Amino acid sequence: MSMNRIQFQPGMSLFEQVERYGTEEQCEAAVQQARWPDGFCCPCCGATAHCVLRTKGRKTFQCNLCHHQTSLIAGTVFEGTKLPLTVWFMAIYLISEAKTGHSALALKRELGVSYPTAWLLHHKLMQAMVEREAGYQLCGTVQVDDAYLGGELTGGTPGRGSENKVPFIGALSLDAQGHPLRAKFSQLSGFTRKAIAEWAGACLSPQSTVVSDGLACFAGVTDVGCAHQPTVVGDRKPKDLPMFHSVNTVLGNLKTSLSGAYHAFGYSKYAQHYLGAIAYRFNRRFDLHALPQRLLVAAVRCDPCTARQIRLAETRC
Ligand SMILES: [Zn+2]
Repeated sequence: MSMNRIQFQPGMSLFEQVERYGTEEQCEAAVQQARWPDGFCCPCCGATAHCVLRTKGRKTFQCNLCHHQTSLIAGTVFEGTKLPLTVWFMAIYLISEAKTGHSALALKRELGVSYPTAWLLHHKLMQAMVEREAGYQLCGTVQVDDAYLGGELTGGTPGRGSENKVPFIGALSLDAQGHPLRAKFSQLSGFTRKAIAEWAGACLSPQSTVVSDGLACFAGVTDVGCAHQPTVVGDRKPKDLPMFHSVNTVLGNLKTSLSGAYHAFGYSKYAQHYLGAIAYRFNRRFDLHALPQRLLVAAVRCDPCTARQIRLAETRC
């Protein structure tokens, strides 16, 4: 059996994780390094001279010039947390290393926290991944396909009209040899030309060439300057056509991951979080060892989000 270079690459071992981030001091030092790689800089006046205090047990930096105090975790995804950073770091590790996604229920058991705590921590880290992904556009040749998340509610409308089905678009940029580079999975209001044009404006470089099946709404990509190559598939399924092989494989893996790791979640409300998290991990699949560190950087750069904001489920592309 040939070795798959992505599947068989070494990740970070649990021993290494505990050795590097097993104490609160180690985690504080890692957050500080991720936030201020060139050393602390006062957010008010830009001065670098400072002293370190402890406020309510948290490391706090006081500017020597203007005396402004900055908590180590204020302004990051960790803001306001009562959990030790070691718990957050273990969650970052577990989520990063889980190939097929990690559920809040699994985190609850592994971290020894309550389910609501695990749920919130999981969603906050997914928010960090979604925000990081939103900064990237796909370019070059991009395969796209329409897809749905979720099943039918008991007694509800079957098929595509089901109330619990969430439409989303799967998009994959390819290299010159046709190998997948980056993916984006985006919840849509529906498969309309307008929704596709808005999606393409935010998620694709205008120089992209979009390869799709004959679904009429995909022509919306030309409204924002992308080229479009539709293929009318007729009676054949897109998965049987070589030009759609990559995007269909990736979408198949996505659905397997979601159904395996998360038996049920509010598809209509939180779809973008789960889709964004899968894209985040897919797009960093060549360097699993660095993934926890990269998620830490995403977490310190992510604006704080409260449980209420997450429940309102503000979704971004
Ligand atoms: Zn200052």
